[in-house]
Amino acid sequence: MRLPPFAYHAPDTLDKALKIKAELGASAPILAGGTDLLVHLKHRLASPAAVISLKNIRTLKGIEVGADSLVLRAGTPLREVAAHEGVIRNFPLLVKAVHSIGAVGIQHFRGTIGGNLCLTPRCLFYNQSLFWRTGKGQCHRTGGKDCLALKGSESCQAICSGDTVPVLAALSAQVTIASAGGMRTAPVAEFFTGKGESPFNMTPEEILTEIRIPLPWGPLSSSYQRLSFRSAVDFPLINAAVAAILDKGKVESFRLVISSAGPAPVILKELESAIKGQKPDPAMLQPVREAAIKAVEGAIIENASASKEYRVKLAAVAAVRAASEALGLENQPS
Ligand SMILES: Cc1cc2nc3c(=O)[nH]c(=O)nc-3n(C[C@H](O)[C@H](O)[C@H](O)COP(=O)(O)OP(=O)(O)OC[C@H]3O[C@@H](n4cnc5c(N)ncnc54)[C@H](O)[C@@H]3O)c2cc1C
Repeated sequence: MRLPPFAYHAPDTLDKALKIKAELGASAPILAGGTDLLVHLKHRLASPAAVISLKNIRTLKGIEVGADSLVLRAGTPLREVAAHEGVIRNFPLLVKAVHSIGAVGIQHFRGTIGGNLCLTPRCLFYNQSLFWRTGKGQCHRTGGKDCLALKGSESCQAICSGDTVPVLAALSAQVTIASAGGMRTAPVAEFFTGKGESPFNMTPEEILTEIRIPLPWGPLSSSYQRLSFRSAVDFPLINAAVAAILDKGKVESFRLVISSAGPAPVILKELESAIKGQKPDPAMLQPVREAAIKAVEGAIIENASASKEYRVKLAAVAAVRAASEALGLENQPS
């Protein structure tokens, strides 16, 4: 499969990249590692006039551990994230999530942490070759006015499938987004719009520059769980992450995020106050199961390689496994 023709920009500073972005906007997407974007171009899911590569911009690469946060620059390769001592020590669930992405080739060859967060939502009816799609109607993402997965839907229902998404949301990470006009920050949880055709709270003139994860203020106990048909080269059917602070036998904070169900990750907010201040107890897992089913049932549609009923059950399993591991309640039935 060949790439379509496009102009190639490889600026060596962020300022130059932002200037090009300000001029070309959506007609020039960012090329980070390219492991997702190039597949889209080859399948003619996008035919941009130009791409802007980040590969020469040194300031967009690297990891820093500060007094109160760990900063991942958006263009940092996945292998560097998973091998970084500060990440391993503070956020083992992020290491697990990165190791789950695709296969070693994707993690070691090119994939970046920013590209994973900005991964285009996926859909069974959309992530197909041009030949396959010719027999179908057009959808919101290919210039049509309907969703092939949910007839009559006013927006695209493709799935937010990045492995690191629930982890970064559970860890209350913040994104920094730059434009020619300046910088702004937003919580990862608010970065997602819930609309597959414009999935991120980012204008076409903006670039994601970094992800800032607050260092845990107490003993972090966490878990990342993903369920997929294959153990490699397979996007999650459902994934879930828990970040909890457990101190002196009590849960001081608890956040559970489920993703790969709909266009945005779902934070199970009601559990945060229900579990806070309690001693970890197997009885907590039933409310976790119920909250996961309730949250996912409302969002899920038939657009993955497993039925929506099955994926709701998987969401309950992933949520219970994540909560069990993080709360030290392992070996509980899921
Ligand atoms: C065979 C295969 C299996 C895969 N399996 C998985 C998997 O299991 N889990 C998973 O999560 N992913 C998977 N992926 C998808 C992809 O490889 C990873 O998500 C990877 O982390 C994407 O990073 P990248 O740097 O290559 O992104 P790119 O392809 O360069 O970019 C992805 C998208 O993000 C945008 N973008 C990138 N960086 C920025 C930025 N700084 N600012 C604004 N926009 C930006 C791009 O314009 C593009 O739309 C798989 C891909 C393949 C080909």
